[in-house]
Amino acid sequence: MATGDETNASWHRRARGLTPAGVHSNARLVGAERVFACGEGPWLFDVEGNRYVDYMLGRGPAVLGHTPVAINEAVARAVTQGLTLGQATPLEVEAAEAALSVIPWADRLRFTSSGTEAVQAAFRLARASTGRSLIVQFEGSYHGWIDGVSLVPGDDPRSAQPATRGQAPDSGAQVVLVPWNDPTAIDDVFARWSDQIAAVITEPVNIFGGAHAAPGFLSHLRDVTTRHGAVLIFDEVVTGFRLQPGSAASLLGVTPDLATFAKGLGSGWPVSAVAGSAALFDGVATDRVRLSGTYNGNAAAMAAVIATVAATADGELHRAMNIWGDRLREGLKAAAASQGVAFNPEGYPTAFWSVFTGLKEPESVERAEQLNALLWDERVITYHHTWLPSAAHDEEALSFTIEAFARALARL
Ligand code: PLP
Repeated sequence: MATGDETNASWHRRARGLTPAGVHSNARLVGAERVFACGEGPWLFDVEGNRYVDYMLGRGPAVLGHTPVAINEAVARAVTQGLTLGQATPLEVEAAEAALSVIPWADRLRFTSSGTEAVQAAFRLARASTGRSLIVQFEGSYHGWIDGVSLVPGDDPRSAQPATRGQAPDSGAQVVLVPWNDPTAIDDVFARWSDQIAAVITEPVNIFGGAHAAPGFLSHLRDVTTRHGAVLIFDEVVTGFRLQPGSAASLLGVTPDLATFAKGLGSGWPVSAVAGSAALFDGVATDRVRLSGTYNGNAAAMAAVIATVAATADGELHRAMNIWGDRLREGLKAAAASQGVAFNPEGYPTAFWSVFTGLKEPESVERAEQLNALLWDERVITYHHTWLPSAAHDEEALSFTIEAFARALARL
């Protein structure tokens, strides 16, 4: 309840007394001292009424911008019929048909609620179908916060260690952890443990890490997993519905066996899914492979999926986002060039990351982090070095951003 004392500091102080650091996700520790009242289109407003242009977009979900009217109206209509019936519903059928229409390489899916859950479901399906246990993951990747994926390298690929305190010491026991973009490392681990490897999981583009898959790396993963009877999982929690409507696999030219979706799938409503071939889902129908969840398929989530696909499936919004994102990148580059700074963002128009050309990668990343902090002061929110435009970013947001960027850069 509001107290009349509407400052960022007062809300943050109250929040700190209720939850660690005043935030409900460790991903929000940076910026925790600002407390946001609402979001609309490309803008966020803090409790003091300050307006920010947002390129973090809830860490990805708000592909259509904040408070997208069509999605909210669809959700509002759907929940009048009951939110969590705990039974099959027509909405689930329509949402599955809609989602699979933009994941054309898959013929089955299961809805879950968060990206972390969808990843666990993918592991379950891969292990069930192969009868093997090991999952190959990549150093520096993020597939959720729970024990079996929150890992850092140990002395060798089989000794991955818990990333944080509080995890079971053997969190990495069923994991093979190798460097990304290193085909030799993959060949080595398959040479040693091919009869135990159930799956390889990778993001097809590491947008938050600011890295493309090396040319040929994804096809190499495709070949090796096929050859050794392992499952290739694309974690499309970030790339899905952002690089293009639905799965980004066709854009990247490699088709996985399973993929996980969340974030953009429901334009911000909590919903996720694991999708793949009918054969991989076989055992689930008989309860030989259990995938459950009280909130799976709830009416709000399903309505959000249907409305998101309806809004995006023809590709028009993504085409417009691509044009807008290109203009933003060019505007930022030009503003930097006029100050003699070689700033050349990499990635895609709908998801790019700051790169200072001429600096080695660690220095460029460090400079981008400094820029991110200065941009916050100028009321431009990026996610570390990553910029995520939405379909709602417009001319006003463009000029606001470029002017703020020029001021921030001048102070860098
Ligand atoms: N996979 C990737 C690639 C992610 O970026 C994230 C979250 O940022 C997750 C999985 C976990 O998703 P969630 O936070 O919805 O559990």
